[in-house]
Amino acid sequence: MKRLDLKTRLSLWFTLILALICALMLALAFAVFTTYDQQRIRDELIEAVEDEAERIEDGRDYADALAAGRVRDADFLRGDVRLMIYDENGTQLAGLFPQNELDTLPYADTERVGTVTTDGRAYYYYDEWVKVRRGNDYWVRGVTAAERSLWSALDGHLAPLLLLPLLLALAFLGGYWLTGRFLRPIRDIGRTAEAIRESGDLSRRIPYHDTGDELSALTGHINGMLERVEQNFNAERQFASNASHELRTPVSVILAQCEYGIENAQTADELREVVAAIQKQGGRMSRLIETLLLFTRMEQSTERYRREPTDISALVRSACADHALIAEKNITLRCETPDGVTGRVNAELYRLLLDNLVSNAMRYGRENGHVDVSLARRGENIELTVRDDGAGIAAEDLPHIWEMFYRADKSRSTRGLGLGLPLVRQIAAYHGGTVSVESEPGKGSEFRVTMPVGGAE
Ligand code: ADP
Repeated sequence: MKRLDLKTRLSLWFTLILALICALMLALAFAVFTTYDQQRIRDELIEAVEDEAERIEDGRDYADALAAGRVRDADFLRGDVRLMIYDENGTQLAGLFPQNELDTLPYADTERVGTVTTDGRAYYYYDEWVKVRRGNDYWVRGVTAAERSLWSALDGHLAPLLLLPLLLALAFLGGYWLTGRFLRPIRDIGRTAEAIRESGDLSRRIPYHDTGDELSALTGHINGMLERVEQNFNAERQFASNASHELRTPVSVILAQCEYGIENAQTADELREVVAAIQKQGGRMSRLIETLLLFTRMEQSTERYRREPTDISALVRSACADHALIAEKNITLRCETPDGVTGRVNAELYRLLLDNLVSNAMRYGRENGHVDVSLARRGENIELTVRDDGAGIAAEDLPHIWEMFYRADKSRSTRGLGLGLPLVRQIAAYHGGTVSVESEPGKGSEFRVTMPVGGAE
């Protein structure tokens, strides 16, 4: 069986509860009404009997008229109370006798309202003795039905009661409409999710109405999340495309060299040249793969690159010494490193970061230029700066140099991998730090890495 949808179920549920509450209130009102009504019926009964008794007591003529049977029947009906008059021996004199056992019920001098059930109906009765000054004594009995029917109780109040089903129907329809409106964002979320699943189009967004409630906030959050997912997905796609492109170039060179070697190389020297070219491209591919693996490893596990207390001063000095040996373009490498700067870092990664910054500074530095490396402790941070006086970076390139495979100068013949700066940034982030750059084209660049002494655990 098809289940009812959420808004029907919700509206039905609340309408049902509303109907139950109404029924309960009605039952309560009826119970209270009946209690008060019983009291009123009894008071009416006593009043009618006492009235009649007084009448007989006060007027001899009336007593005579009674005895002679000259009083009309209608006079014995006071509202709902029937009156009966008996003489002192219990003989029926006048009145409206109901012709059931109430007629033969003996006089009850209790001054209380009695109850009797006859023919399945309950009656109240009340008796009063009347002393007539000159004449016979009488007793007066009043009888009235103890229960009123529901209809007589509701008499005059039926219109509002009949409105009740109408109001309940209105409550249901209103609830149905309102719930539908409230649930619309959820329906939109479902539709958008389904559309994305079917089309794979991550650029779709959920229609957003700023109503200020939780559901519009949820819609905003999901749209934000989709934005992020789309960005990441595009970045991944771009990365895969770039990485395959980067690998394709050396592979093409290797294949071309192999073909040339097989078909054209005549001498051992020519063959050696071919192999050397293949080796160069192989090395480039290997570096590329190693670097990409490094990114993945850093993202996946902190176990492999543990951060340990390290003498960073010594690490920087050793890197500077190594780079000084291979400095090109007659560049002077100056290293300003105070003793005893230590921190919790991974020495292997920190060295890699240094190597990348210093070799970039050398590569993009000018002939006979300078590269300055300095290390300092600033409060809870360790600051490393690598400055050169080389080509600098154009303003339009600056925002992109952190992107994978981005190279500012595409025509450069000895092309780097375009992974150095992204790696530097990743390593800084791995240690809970940041990296920034200031550069002026033609004057040089300064890269600054700031890391907390303790490193992020
Ligand atoms: P690459 O392997 O090309 O050096 P990087 O990610 O290390 O890749 O650097 C990205 C780009 O940033 C480089 O292609 C270069 O244009 C620019 N760049 C990096 N360091 C410097 C620097 N010290 N001086 C000038 N430009 C630089």
